[in-house]
Amino acid sequence: MRERAPGVHQLVSFPPNAINSYLLGDVLVDSGTRLDRPLLMRQLGNRKLSAHALTHAHGDHQGSSHAVCERFECPFWVGAADVEDAEAGGRAVYAKMPQPLHQVPRLYSYMFPGPGHPVARQLREGDTVADFTVLETPGHSAGHIAFWRESDRVLIAGDVFTNMNVMTLMPGLHEPLDIFTPDPARNRESMRRLAALKPRLTCFGHGAPLRDPERLQAFTEALESR
Ligand SMILES: [Zn+2]
Repeated sequence: MRERAPGVHQLVSFPPNAINSYLLGDVLVDSGTRLDRPLLMRQLGNRKLSAHALTHAHGDHQGSSHAVCERFECPFWVGAADVEDAEAGGRAVYAKMPQPLHQVPRLYSYMFPGPGHPVARQLREGDTVADFTVLETPGHSAGHIAFWRESDRVLIAGDVFTNMNVMTLMPGLHEPLDIFTPDPARNRESMRRLAALKPRLTCFGHGAPLRDPERLQAFTEALESR
């Protein structure tokens, strides 16, 4: 894993940067798909986790969450409006997406999600996780949250933006795909909110980290004129 900022480690994924998990201190944020479990477990080794949190409860972020919480005996923390999906696990969350019969969500619904796990703490705006503050950023999911550290302007943005085309894996800023985003208009509000923070470092669910707050803002502003 690589340290992206003090106390912020990005775990190695395959393909690189495609599906990201982070350690904020001793809190694991997101767990990839259920197929990522061996790689994730190898990197986490014998360390102690104080908690495992999600940016949101889609299968490419919660796939190994049950396994992580069992193995590390740590509590599961999830944005309040995503708790039901995180506890149910499995394919149910994909049935609520805008085009559940579209071949890509259907394929992902079989490949990615892991079993659900009981949520010990519902995360809300202003809560503290490690030395980050929880921001409610709904749209891509109802309970999507981001993690913000004001002192050095580090943002864990989840899927409010992606810094990779998730179909081709080519680098670049994008909105999350509509087929996985129940409320794209609300997600745009969340994008504006996060871009306005001018994060010195933005870490994404998909794509390499970005150290360019102006680019994040310019990208968000350009959307308005489309
Ligand atoms: Zn995702």
